Amino acid sequence: MDEGVVKYSCECIPGENVAVELIASLMKWRDHIHELGLIGVYENGIGFGNISIRIANTLQFIISGSQTGHLAKLNPDHYTVVTEFNIEHNHLTCCGPIQASSESLTHAAIYSYEPNINAIIHVHHPQLWRKLLNQVPTTRKDVQYGTPKMAQEMFRLFEEENLREKKILVMAGHEDGFLTFGKDLNEAGEILIQYYHI
Ligand SMILES: [Zn+2]
Repeated sequence: MDEGVVKYSCECIPGENVAVELIASLMKWRDHIHELGLIGVYENGIGFGNISIRIANTLQFIISGSQTGHLAKLNPDHYTVVTEFNIEHNHLTCCGPIQASSESLTHAAIYSYEPNINAIIHVHHPQLWRKLLNQVPTTRKDVQYGTPKMAQEMFRLFEEENLREKKILVMAGHEDGFLTFGKDLNEAGEILIQYYHI
């Protein structure tokens, strides 16, 4: 199946936890968003949602680890640093106590494209997703999340639509999924909360 599609690969180097001071706000937002049900787990056991912040002035970022959607509260053991990535080759390297999710490449693509974005929140919500589809910048239905194609598709939205101003995008090809971002985590979070309440 999918001949010609570069398979996702991740090299995770076991490493120390990220310092709590660096992720205090990240942990707070993540647990709050989990409480709202925007990060969580489906009945089939598959988790959804992830949140990240850029390490200032670098292409590295701290992201919540894979398979953590079921946990109401995360601790520093559940965050990892994406140290390197290659979008074309669908590969990333992380360093920390937990593996980064394959969806991290979508975060990586945004950080590499737009230096003023320092925080990204990816969530799932069926009703909101339906409401927002094609009302805010929306990626094409045939493009899946966490793939090299998604990076290209998001760059298209930066170029052709008002994604930079809206700071929210919906993924038509990733059911329930959308993301918000900002110059910092508070901006990304507040945008998310605004839409949550519409
Ligand atoms: Zn998702």
